[in-house]
Amino acid sequence: MRYLLPLFALSLTLSAYEFDLKPKRLNPNVVCFFGEPNAMNTTNNGNMLNTCYLDTAKSYVVIDSGSSYAYAASAYKAMQTIKPLPVTLVINTHVHDDHWLGNGFFAQMGVKVLGSDDFEHNADMHVPTRMQTHISPEAYAGTVPTLPSEMISSDENLSVGSQLIELHMMKQKAHSAKDMVVFVPKAKTLFAGDLVFNDRVPSLATGDINGWIRALDELKSYGATTIVGGHGYRTDKKAMVMLYAYLTQMRSEIRKALDEGLSIDETINKVTMSEFKSLRMYDTMHRSNVEAAYRTLEWEQK
Ligand SMILES: [Zn+2]
Ligand SMILES: [Zn+2]
Repeated sequence: MRYLLPLFALSLTLSAYEFDLKPKRLNPNVVCFFGEPNAMNTTNNGNMLNTCYLDTAKSYVVIDSGSSYAYAASAYKAMQTIKPLPVTLVINTHVHDDHWLGNGFFAQMGVKVLGSDDFEHNADMHVPTRMQTHISPEAYAGTVPTLPSEMISSDENLSVGSQLIELHMMKQKAHSAKDMVVFVPKAKTLFAGDLVFNDRVPSLATGDINGWIRALDELKSYGATTIVGGHGYRTDKKAMVMLYAYLTQMRSEIRKALDEGLSIDETINKVTMSEFKSLRMYDTMHRSNVEAAYRTLEWEQK
């Protein structure tokens, strides 16, 4: 490991862009960084998702590496000022690029990166990433899309330092084709990735409304008192309440529309769910969510 350090130090100085990330301690073992619950743009430069550091006494485990090399470097630097510990493991919750483009930063330090085998199928490595096309070139500089070094296909328990870490794979498509969550029983903390959104409208674009509701029912059974979603600030045990209400209400309104024989366009115009209008990203996401859910639910009628 030691011979990697000079290279690492050099790369850090070359990564000029600094994110002003504010670490927030959730409990004695968990510190997270909360991004603006919004789309990626040149104002937030990809600081629009949540990432966390779990202190296992001997080292940190990082849950989601963030949206770029510079993001990962800035979070790492902030954590070293809180408590200087090495990172020995990075876990990627799912395949959407805002959550794992920081992998390259950790990979160059020789840190193991763990993700589901969905990365083999659904991480598109041959087109420019969404981050690359939406944030400033300075903020993206140095980012090299880097797949997990180890991909797993089913649940696993890991013992790292003082912590037992449970990795749970959702059994069906939910927010993405294969979502993985991280549960730390000792800290009663659930890192739910994008299965949990709050403070903004979620994205159903690559998901399945039925699978997502089922996944949330499963997560409820873990008994977590701290729940960190992929987007949004709320982290108490009610962190998934808003999303659950959004998805279940959408499903019942679309099923009703299908029973009445409404077309997809008529349904999109009808299922406005105005009580969610004040949420961020309602204007850009809601209609396409109804469309995606309609396409899933119409199969139930056939
Ligand atoms: Zn996602
Ligand atoms: Zn996300």
